Amino acid sequence: YCATRGVYSSPRGTVKIPADPSLSMVRFLLRNASSYPNRVALADTNSGRSFTFGELEAAINRVAAGISRLGVAKGDVVLIFSPNCIDFPLCFFAVISLGAIVTTVNPLYTVSELSKQTADSGARLVITVPQLFPKVRELRLPTVILGPSKLSVAEAAGASIVYLPDLLQSVGDSPAFVPPAAAQTDVAALFYSSGTTGANKGVELTHRNFIAASLMVTAEQDLRGDPPHVCLCFLPMFHIFGLSLVTYAQLQRGTASSPWAVQGHLNPPGPPVVIALAKQGKVTSYDLSSLRQVICGAAPLGKDIMEEASKIYPDVEIFQGYGLTESCGIISLEVRVEGVRQYGSAGFLVPGVEAKVINVDTGVPLPPNGVGELCFRGDNIMRGYFNNLEATAWTLDKEGWLHTGDLGYFDDEGKLYVVDRIKELIKYKGFQVAPAELEGLLLSHPEILDAVVVPLPDEEAGEVPIAYVVRATQSSLTEADVQKFIAVQVAPFKRLRKVSFIDSVPKSASGKILRRVLIDRIRSRQ
Ligand code: AMP
Repeated sequence: YCATRGVYSSPRGTVKIPADPSLSMVRFLLRNASSYPNRVALADTNSGRSFTFGELEAAINRVAAGISRLGVAKGDVVLIFSPNCIDFPLCFFAVISLGAIVTTVNPLYTVSELSKQTADSGARLVITVPQLFPKVRELRLPTVILGPSKLSVAEAAGASIVYLPDLLQSVGDSPAFVPPAAAQTDVAALFYSSGTTGANKGVELTHRNFIAASLMVTAEQDLRGDPPHVCLCFLPMFHIFGLSLVTYAQLQRGTASSPWAVQGHLNPPGPPVVIALAKQGKVTSYDLSSLRQVICGAAPLGKDIMEEASKIYPDVEIFQGYGLTESCGIISLEVRVEGVRQYGSAGFLVPGVEAKVINVDTGVPLPPNGVGELCFRGDNIMRGYFNNLEATAWTLDKEGWLHTGDLGYFDDEGKLYVVDRIKELIKYKGFQVAPAELEGLLLSHPEILDAVVVPLPDEEAGEVPIAYVVRATQSSLTEADVQKFIAVQVAPFKRLRKVSFIDSVPKSASGKILRRVLIDRIRSRQ
């Protein structure tokens, strides 16, 4: 900690990002691949398909050639709407190698949620799986369907679809195709996040952001000289943690990544997995004897749960990390230490990330142990919110600090503790729920005059959304009516778990909702 600047930096220093401005993510990913061509890069346990590092470049180029035949060019946005599978990263790398931009959507989203993001991002092609096509159909956009199963004739009727295997066949085995170069500063992906306030916004992440984040998150492995292992990507790849920190970061290091999804389910991104490991006792239906490390993030992971899980799996290291979509997934990570483990912290800043902890009222930087808003700076921080200068200016200040809306502190050793959230965001099992979105839907009901949505702490999910609603005078609207009204419009994890009727929503003199009053009232009752 530097008291004169009020800035914390990583005990591991910084990372060296290649200077070549035309180095794209894919070229960076494959920079060492020729020295380990036979090593497995991607392996899909569900389908049995795999690619070695030697095969990866040709596979990416073939998909890129196919996608470019569909008219996708530099700067175009392509939406990937799929659970984890081996084609997800392949298509991601292919699209960005064209200089085009990927946006991802949670497969649980409803048609209206999906349409909103498609319109906002301006996506002109969709890549999806047969099971999700009924939702995609409504978008009326050209669509690539990932195999192996096919749509029925009735399902496919009138739609502009092409199956990926057919597209690749039309390209041939070795297409004479040189993908256009993308620069480090070009945007590679638009991941959606509500940030500190309001509805979902497209987080512009550049090739450089991904390269930086991947070096930051694997720096400790490099320092220790860890041999390449196999990384099971349990995290959903539509979320930044799954795609950036697990898949891309590990692949660029030469580690195999295995995209994994419990068949028919969507894996939650964080703590529920460790909670399940802790609460269910030793898993006997799967052979976990090769499991060495579990890294958990996306929402706070309780100290007690970590201790419980570690007792059941003494040979497995359970680490916590912290990050945001806006930081390309990574900010801090626990590292291996000698002696007794102390659970509960989100670890040390990764190399290359600087932090400030500022007093929420005055903005003055705080020394160790002072709790304030966490702000970060580094090459992993987003370029801004897509088409939204106002939200960008709110979140990124003139010196490049990302204001997170998270409350926390550093201890004397430089370990980070995330203690609370002052932003509106609700996190259900690590998935984002934006109160502003649910409030907007509630206000569209003719019998609702005003509404506010806040988090209710929940042991299993971390938090669940609940609403306080002001009814019109003659209205006989019930809690169940309101819950149903929302449930049909949103993904299941955003449903209101409770609705209370109140006379008025607490607001400041300037009309700003005083969420904190309601949140504190809930907490004082628990
Ligand atoms: P997302 O952009 O969906 O990854 O959400 C980022 C937010 O998740 C952060 O701003 C935090 O509020 C929360 N978060 C992520 N990791 C942690 C953690 N280890 N402890 C507490 N909160 C976390």
